[in-house]
Amino acid sequence: MYDGDIASTLVTEDDIRAKTAELAVRIADDYAERCATSDLLLVGVLKGAVMFMTDLARALPLPVQLEFMAVSSYGSATSSSGVVRILKDLDRDIADRHVLIVEDIIDSGLTLSWLLKNLESRGPASLAVCTLLRKPDAVKVDVPVQYVGFDIPNEFVVGYGLDYAERYRDLPFIGTLDPAVYA
Ligand code: 5GP
Ligand code: MG
Ligand code: MG
Repeated sequence: MYDGDIASTLVTEDDIRAKTAELAVRIADDYAERCATSDLLLVGVLKGAVMFMTDLARALPLPVQLEFMAVSSYGSATSSSGVVRILKDLDRDIADRHVLIVEDIIDSGLTLSWLLKNLESRGPASLAVCTLLRKPDAVKVDVPVQYVGFDIPNEFVVGYGLDYAERYRDLPFIGTLDPAVYA
């Protein structure tokens, strides 16, 4: 599949599965008490977080509900500007709910920073973030991220939900693209 397009594998399917199980244990531990009377609400950011969100939901040994949001950040195809527009909002009110944002990757952190402010203003009981991947720049930004799968180098990656021009989302692992693909 996609012969020759992938230059290297950064995170294997096994790595993803093991890390998701590990994060699920931590999250279940942190939320078991708080979510005894109301289910944890996972908010996935479309489309990139879809694979991680569904695997995480199945790995979590506690009841969760799923909501999705789609946002577009103005900027080039490979970097974001922090100016965000809602393409699809949540279907439900999150007031007094325990909300966990599920992200594919945090790069500049601008999208997430905007999203946190936006969701915080809706009055959730709590708000936290779980991301599968994090790039070096994100560490410099002051955005609280409670659960991080993998810190990766500053390279453009695809697979497991992440795209380049809408392709490669269906790869079961995370890899880097051969520069010839951009050309
Ligand atoms: P941020 O606002 O943190 O700079 O950007 C976050 C969004 O940019 C991610 O949700 C993702 O859509 C996109 N993005 C950032 N880095 C990458 C990358 O390496 N590969 C892909 N496919 N998308 C990325
Ligand atoms: Mg994302
Ligand atoms: Mg994209």
